[in-house]
Amino acid sequence: MMAAGAAASGGCEVTLLEKNNRLGRKLSITGKGRCNVTNACGADGLLANTIGNPQFLRAAFNRFTSAQTIAFFEDLGVKLVVERGHRVFPASEQAADIVSAMENYLVRSKVAVVLNNTVTDIEFGAGKTVKTRDGAYEADAVILTTGGLAYPATGSTGDGFRFAKKAGHHISPLHPSLTPMRADDPWVSDLQGLVLKNVGIRLQSGKGSVYTDFGELLFTHFGVSGPVILSASRFFTEGDTHTLCVDLKPALDEQALDARLLRDFQKYKNKNFLNALDDLLPRALIPVLVSLSGISPERKVNGVTKTERRDFVRLMKCLRLSVSGLLGFDNAVITRGGVNVKEVNPSTMESRLVKGLYFAGEILDVDALTGGYNLQIAFSTGFLAGSRCMEGIM
Ligand SMILES: Cc1cc2nc3c(=O)[nH]c(=O)nc-3n(C[C@H](O)[C@H](O)[C@H](O)COP(=O)(O)OP(=O)(O)OC[C@H]3O[C@@H](n4cnc5c(N)ncnc54)[C@H](O)[C@@H]3O)c2cc1C
Repeated sequence: MMAAGAAASGGCEVTLLEKNNRLGRKLSITGKGRCNVTNACGADGLLANTIGNPQFLRAAFNRFTSAQTIAFFEDLGVKLVVERGHRVFPASEQAADIVSAMENYLVRSKVAVVLNNTVTDIEFGAGKTVKTRDGAYEADAVILTTGGLAYPATGSTGDGFRFAKKAGHHISPLHPSLTPMRADDPWVSDLQGLVLKNVGIRLQSGKGSVYTDFGELLFTHFGVSGPVILSASRFFTEGDTHTLCVDLKPALDEQALDARLLRDFQKYKNKNFLNALDDLLPRALIPVLVSLSGISPERKVNGVTKTERRDFVRLMKCLRLSVSGLLGFDNAVITRGGVNVKEVNPSTMESRLVKGLYFAGEILDVDALTGGYNLQIAFSTGFLAGSRCMEGIM
């Protein structure tokens, strides 16, 4: 939508072909329906949070910055708010307002939108023939923005990779990313639904610590999810063994946490161990941690030894989960991998192999963490491809 609007604003006659019966189906479910539309950080922040091929995006991020994304939507009448971590959302908390704004942009820039029309094939010559279920379109230039493979129910079923391959492009291996993690530990399902707001996490593989973060984690029936887990999943390597260490008390070091535990033990000295932890831990976690500690739940707290207390502190500082894998594309926020960026000009998003073929968005082998960065990638690359498309044709 951004690419189409930018190309039409630049003077191209643009037709946007969409297979769904409405535009922006994925966009409308982003950010749990609230749409984290960008991140109000500078270009350096965008680059730092892009993990897959950040340097390829330098020109696109500079050409269309997150400040421009904010101005773009405000100009279209969407009031935005900046939340924790510079994450930007519509003040209405409705992703649908972002979709409507994009639709207005397309109307304003006079893009012909054709819905319910799946592109089935593209012939690449000096002119391009785009074949669809309902007929063929001749074009001087084509911008492929079919997305990746994540959440295929929204329309992104990977058709664009087929067209890119046909044009001679290589596709870097495709993996689900920003996805929940499966954990083998039997106690995990007992915690289903528990949200921990301020925890630290460390993902470890055979290579050592591969990712650390701080924030919100959610237990599910199969393992763990939530923003910090989604970001950590980007660093999961298939075939490696991974463990996740959850620091339940990141604000306290072991010594301070021990002192805190001791205070609670003194306060509840006549209680059983199981009943002495209410001030320290969420209720649902207590039986799990007590069981993992090996200390009898019926033990009076004044009978808990110093060594047992130290081990319990360590358990709270690192609740260990065995990660057995990631959920697949059906539950992934994005796709890692895509059209090899060495074959695309970063200053224009034009194919280096086929003149007049452009790429933008998740179809490219670029990806970022959670925080509004992936939509910014789509907007920046879309704007660049659209605005350079006209020059390519002339
Ligand atoms: C649940 C979820 C939540 C997310 N939340 C956020 C968030 O809050 N912030 C953020 O930055 N990112 C978020 N993302 C990621 C972000 O939505 C994507 O990175 C972004 O939408 C990619 O944009 P795109 O235009 O490249 O692809 P898409 O948004 O996938 O759009 C591709 C379009 O191409 C159409 N299409 C595909 N094949 C054909 C064909 N053959 N013919 C015609 N049309 C076709 C599809 O129907 C689709 O409409 C989220 C993703 C998911 C799944």
